[in-house]
Amino acid sequence: MSTLVPAGARAHLARRATTVRQSAVRDVFDIAMDPDLVSLAGGNPWLSGLPLEELGATAQRLIAQQGTASLQYGPGQGLASMRAAACTVMAADGIPDADPELVVITPGSQAAIDTACRAFADPGDVVVVEDPTFVGALTSFQTWELAAVATPTDEHGLVPEELDATLTRLAAEGRRVAFLYTIPSFANPSGLLLPAERRERVAEVCARHDVLIVEDNPYGQIAFDGEPVAPIAAAHRDRTVYLGTMSKIFSPGVRVGWALVPEALHREFYLCAESAFIHASTTSQMLATAFVTEFDWQGHVREVTGLYRARAAALQDALTEHWDPAFEYTPPAGGFFLWGSLPAGVDTVELMREGIAAGAVFVPGAAFTPVEGVHSTLRLAYSFVDEETLVEGVRRLAPVVDGAVAG
Ligand code: PMP
Repeated sequence: MSTLVPAGARAHLARRATTVRQSAVRDVFDIAMDPDLVSLAGGNPWLSGLPLEELGATAQRLIAQQGTASLQYGPGQGLASMRAAACTVMAADGIPDADPELVVITPGSQAAIDTACRAFADPGDVVVVEDPTFVGALTSFQTWELAAVATPTDEHGLVPEELDATLTRLAAEGRRVAFLYTIPSFANPSGLLLPAERRERVAEVCARHDVLIVEDNPYGQIAFDGEPVAPIAAAHRDRTVYLGTMSKIFSPGVRVGWALVPEALHREFYLCAESAFIHASTTSQMLATAFVTEFDWQGHVREVTGLYRARAAALQDALTEHWDPAFEYTPPAGGFFLWGSLPAGVDTVELMREGIAAGAVFVPGAAFTPVEGVHSTLRLAYSFVDEETLVEGVRRLAPVVDGAVAG
């Protein structure tokens, strides 16, 4: 851990601010911006296929037509038009009958995760997470002084029996579990897809323990084969807070996401959201709504999915050709990431530093787990770099991987 806070300033900081994850691993996201490095680190979506001129003309028309309303404060829950657009996107995710009255628009799903902490968890409470899990969620949990407790996963994701055992143990310890945080479809960072039958069993286990589920689904439509698997929320609306976002299917810069909240919790959730950010940007909501109602947004999702599928395949071919087979991974079936592991004992934080010296960067597994210690796992993002560059990154890292495997 490093600290940038001088002793004098430290006295003014809340404990939560000083404990926010700030390790060598976090620095990787800044380092990854260096143009001389091949970055397999950032999970940025590919945006060049967006119809920029038409979007620009639409933004101009919206502001002209809506006048000052487009620049004014709006309703705390989000614009009715954006809530309806969110329901259209959720129907394609596999939730055909979402009630727009129960949708709260947020500035991205990161803000919805933060709002879930604000609304459902007190300091010291537990959030149960699959291991590995999304670094941004772990940071949010840490900021709210929550204990992220990992429950084991296998090559299909969450293991319901293990979740049952984890929740039984936590109950015996007298811990309050605020919620289970899970990414069932093409998870960040694991890329895993939780099968439909396991989704049912996860919901059944959570019902038995009376635990709320926060289901985060930014990647569900980026499926390389077949249709998206229906979210847990589709059949378990009363127990599940479902998070969606425009970030991966349209633009992360517009900062528009949402939560579909159980009716019994909706009012408190929305008041907590309002206390944090009042509402998501009105102009952004208008543009995101127009993307869903006036553009072939599903055609765009199909196009980017095809591109990500080709990039994932190119990455795997390059790994087969250039990396020691001791690097093991589950081939991604969707999403932005390939997750793999080197033999136990290899420290991928150290390997990341060697990789940067060799001209390429990835994110070491330590970023994605609440479990302290040495981790031999790593995440490669294929969403944002073209195939040639992906191959070059893998080639640059090959000697570093060889060195680690040889010990
Ligand atoms: N959840 C997951 C699993 C993610 O991967 C990301 C983005 N990397 C987010 C939430 C945050 O996305 P947004 O831009 O909607 O805040």
